Amino acid sequence: MADFWQAPGNGKGFDSFLGDNSKMNNRTIGALSYIKEKSLENGYVTQAQFISEIKAYLLEKFQENPNESLESHFYRPALFYGFLHINQDNKISLSIEGNLFLNSYETRDYLACQKLIINQLDNTTYPNSATQKIKSLKLFPFRILFKLLLEQKELTSTFISRALVHIKTYSDLYEYERTKELSSIALHNDTSSKYIKFNTWVINSLVNLNILILQEKKLSINREVLNHIESLYENTSFIDMFFSDTSCSVNEKIAEKRVQRDATLILKAKERDSYACSVNARHITFMSKGKNYVEGHHVIPMFQQKNYSFKLDDIENIVSLCPNCHREIHSGDNKTEILQQLYSLNKQYMSANSIDLRDLYKMYSCA
Ligand SMILES: [Zn+2]
Ligand SMILES: [Zn+2]
Repeated sequence: MADFWQAPGNGKGFDSFLGDNSKMNNRTIGALSYIKEKSLENGYVTQAQFISEIKAYLLEKFQENPNESLESHFYRPALFYGFLHINQDNKISLSIEGNLFLNSYETRDYLACQKLIINQLDNTTYPNSATQKIKSLKLFPFRILFKLLLEQKELTSTFISRALVHIKTYSDLYEYERTKELSSIALHNDTSSKYIKFNTWVINSLVNLNILILQEKKLSINREVLNHIESLYENTSFIDMFFSDTSCSVNEKIAEKRVQRDATLILKAKERDSYACSVNARHITFMSKGKNYVEGHHVIPMFQQKNYSFKLDDIENIVSLCPNCHREIHSGDNKTEILQQLYSLNKQYMSANSIDLRDLYKMYSCA
C-alpha cells in the first residue's frame, strides 16, 4: 500500500476557534480533561477504560452529545499532536505539552494554546502512533507545510491534497528547493477520497483554530502566529524535515540551529563536576586532553525551549555524563532511574521552574 500523509481518527481534532463562547466540538479538549482527571492516581488510564467512559464524560462535562464515531477516534487527534502518549500496554497518559495546553486553555490564554499546538505540529512525525497504517514515511509533515507556506505565502487546497500529501523523501522537494517553483513538486492524478482527508480534517482544523487562513481557496498563515512560525523555521532547510533514525536526534539538531547554545557553559559544567559522570563518579572512560572524558547533556532537552520562557541553556540544566550513560539517556529503554538521579542533582533549578520528575519522564518518552 502506498504511504501518504494521513489524518488521525475520523473527523477534525478541533472544529472551532479557541476562545470564549467558541462553539467548539469539545472532543479533543474533553479527551485531554478526562485523561488528566482520571490519571491523577496512576499517571495513566487504560484504553479500555477510556473507551467505556468517554462518551458519558463528554455528555456530562461538556453537554456534548458525542456522535457515532468510535471512541478511540476521540483521542486520536490528541495523540497525533503529541498531547497524549500511548504505550505498548495501551496505557494512555497526558504529555507535558498536553498538560501545558490544558492549563493554558483553562486560564483562557488562547494565544498560548495556539503556540503550543504549533509547537506540537512542529514535532509531529510520520510514522505516528495515531496513524498506524503509515509505515515507510520518515518525515515531519507540518515542518514541510509551514516552510512551504512561509516561502510561497499561500498554497491551494488542490496542492495540499494532490501534491503535498504525496511527498515522501527529500528528493521529492529537491527540485523545488533549487528552483523555488511550486510546479516542480509533482501533482498526482489520483483524486480518491483518502488523499483529501489530510486537507479536510487536518488543514481545515488549523483554519478553524485560526492558525491558517483560508481565503478564495488559498491557504496562508494567520499574521498573529506568523512570527512564532518564522522563528521556528528561519534556520532550517527542507533536508532537516526528513530523518532516518529516531525523531529525537533530529529534534535536537534542529533545536541547536534554533537556539544558540553557549559552548562555554558545557565546559564550565564539566569543570564543576570535576570531569566525573553525574550518574556515578566511578564511571571511568578514557583520558582526553588530560581529563576523564565526559559529555555535557541538557537535562531538560533543548527542543523543549519553545515551550518555556526560562532559559534551558543554563549551567544548572547541564550535567556531565560518561559516553555510556549519555547514550542510555538518549536511547535506553528504561530511563527512569537515570532521570531520578539527574533530577535530584538539579532539584533546585527544577523546582524553581515548576518542573517535577513526572514532567521529565514525559519529556524523555519520545521515540
Ligand atoms: Zn545529550
Ligand atoms: Zn556514567
